[in-house]
Amino acid sequence: MPPAIPAVAEVEQRIDRVVETIAAKRPMLQSVVQPFADLYKERARLVCSLRAELNTPALDDFGGRLDDGAPLLSSLSLGILEPALSRAFVALMPVLKTGFPAMAGDFDRIMAAHGRGGLDLVTLADIYLGRTVTSHSDHPDEPPALGFVIHMALSAVLQALAPLLRAQIQEDSWHHGFCPICGSLPAISYLSKAEPLGSEYLVGGGGQRYLHCVLCGHDWRVHRNLCAVCEKEDTEMKLYFTVPEEPGERIDVCHHCHHYLPCIDLRETGTLPHLDTACVSLAHLDMLAQEKGYTPMVLMPWNTFQ
Ligand SMILES: [Zn+2]
Ligand SMILES: [Zn+2]
Repeated sequence: MPPAIPAVAEVEQRIDRVVETIAAKRPMLQSVVQPFADLYKERARLVCSLRAELNTPALDDFGGRLDDGAPLLSSLSLGILEPALSRAFVALMPVLKTGFPAMAGDFDRIMAAHGRGGLDLVTLADIYLGRTVTSHSDHPDEPPALGFVIHMALSAVLQALAPLLRAQIQEDSWHHGFCPICGSLPAISYLSKAEPLGSEYLVGGGGQRYLHCVLCGHDWRVHRNLCAVCEKEDTEMKLYFTVPEEPGERIDVCHHCHHYLPCIDLRETGTLPHLDTACVSLAHLDMLAQEKGYTPMVLMPWNTFQ
């Protein structure tokens, strides 16, 4: 049976728990985490209403794509998602402007261009997904704010769709580092906690590794030492960054391609947090890894230090 879709209130509670934990443990990161927490709550509300109105028959019958090593949505024309994308774009803009005042001027210009009909959201989403090749010179003045808005609007739409598509994916049939649903890279990974095996003497070791898609939010299981970017398996992937007082939080690095990925070890931390918010709350480890010359797998506003 596919996992149940969490209600908005449950998502909000999980986001609040991350914020409360950070306020207690790393207060210097609270001002970084809070705007993302507010943004993810707004997105959760939007995902819920989009899910009710998205027309799924057009999405049926993606079976077989996975066998080719292509993600489910790779053959979907985003054109049918345009109304949802546009609604998400408009709905997220106020909370983006409030939470990220340094980019407010850019958000105003982007919104004005959208109002004039001067933004092709479908093409921009295709470019964001890497499905349309474009040279940087096509967009010489494109502000980072535009990429951020497109990411958020597209993530709201795909997070509404993803649970409807999960049934088409068999666990253990996908071994890539990119998402079987939308093809994006993970923003974070986690190791499962130990599962009781029905006897007080037998406890599963846990530690199975899952990647969490930065865009559609799908989680999929991979081999323990797989690098999601270069897909090499590093049996000596022992090198990671952590702080001694938080053994359940770390950053894994790849010796081959020098990318890194944050990881939460649920055997240490217990319950699964709201992963997108938890990701931002590990910005201190991002900084540590980048100081050592490693690059994040996905560039997001919280891990792009100037
Ligand atoms: Zn995805
Ligand atoms: Zn690698």
